[in-house]
Amino acid sequence: FNPVYSNLPTTIFEVMSGLAREHQAVNLGQGFPDDPGPADVRAKAAEALIEGWNQYPPMMGLPELRRAAADHYRRWQGLALDSDCEVMVTSGATEALAGALFALIEPGDEVVLFQPLYDAYLPLVLRAGGVPKLIRLEPPAWRITEGALAAVFSARTKLVLFNNPQNPTGVVHCRAEMELLADFCLRYDVIAVCDEVWEHIVFDGRRHLPMMALPGMRERTVKIGSAGKIFGMTGWKVGLVCAAPPLMRVLSKAHQFLTFTTPPNLQTAVAYGLGKDEAYFDAMRSDLQRARDHLTAGLTALGLPVLPSAGTYFLTVDLAAVDSSLDDEQFCLDLVRAHGVAAIPVSAFYAENAVRSVVRFCFAKNDATLDLALERLGRAV
Ligand code: PMP
Ligand code: GLN
Repeated sequence: FNPVYSNLPTTIFEVMSGLAREHQAVNLGQGFPDDPGPADVRAKAAEALIEGWNQYPPMMGLPELRRAAADHYRRWQGLALDSDCEVMVTSGATEALAGALFALIEPGDEVVLFQPLYDAYLPLVLRAGGVPKLIRLEPPAWRITEGALAAVFSARTKLVLFNNPQNPTGVVHCRAEMELLADFCLRYDVIAVCDEVWEHIVFDGRRHLPMMALPGMRERTVKIGSAGKIFGMTGWKVGLVCAAPPLMRVLSKAHQFLTFTTPPNLQTAVAYGLGKDEAYFDAMRSDLQRARDHLTAGLTALGLPVLPSAGTYFLTVDLAAVDSSLDDEQFCLDLVRAHGVAAIPVSAFYAENAVRSVVRFCFAKNDATLDLALERLGRAV
């Protein structure tokens, strides 16, 4: 079999959730909320399933969802997108990523990636025949520097895969870092595939800045969003892809033979949900920010140093400051088996030279879940 795939380990999310079930652990590992998601959006999906049309929707997505997505991104991010030729619906951001990488990379093309990296990226890039050029970001700030970009960008660079807000660190890269990256994309004629699935989950008054909005980037950016993240219903695999028409034409060729389409009832419900007002998204953000602060305070009181989280459902703890001999993976295995709390070792997000002292916790949980996890963690440290 293909060695890239036969030698892959099982994804850390599946492994840790399996261990969480086996040990009846509080699962702060894989990122999903306790909350079932907005009742009205779920009701729309149910209604569409029972009464609606359940046959193949158009390949590019239901027109009402494409229009709703264009409208949503205009209201929230000031983007002007033509829903007829610049928006496509996929079965989750994961399909959008696979399609973009398969459609845009030719064997031998160099692809710039940032470590720590979301675990799906590297196997997809390698399967597409891309040659990864890895930039290693360093804790605690995980900042992108000009020197790091200059070391990997060249005339052979085809594409950069950029995740902002960033999973697993919770970092939101600032405008200056993005301008630096945009500058390299322009200088070397590089496409930016931007995984912006966490675009609504940013804290402390931040507003998401899409890469596509930077000067010169409109025509060379593939923007990827996820309704599963926008509404906190991670099992809903509905991805939103935005790109200028020449790029979109190529992306749609991959999509047509990966999944072709996405369940129409979910598309109908997401189209409805994207129309929700500012108050809805503000409330979602402030609930999550409160949960972040609750878990941060609890972990800090236990002597676990929390690195700042500016977005996503995640915060990280640096064990190096507690005991330099602790290994993140061993810590997480002991924690779930002996103490009943699941977390994610951040070393799983590295292809090489992993940082092995950082552990990720998901805080998209109600207070009772977080308190139970903290009580158990108190016995572990
Ligand atoms: N990219 C990132 C950075 C993610 O964190 C996730 C899931 N949490 C995805 C992609 C996958 O999104 P989806 O479930 O819509 O496929
Ligand atoms: N993206 C989710 C996380 O980071 C997990 C996705 C998955 O399980 N494949 O926790």
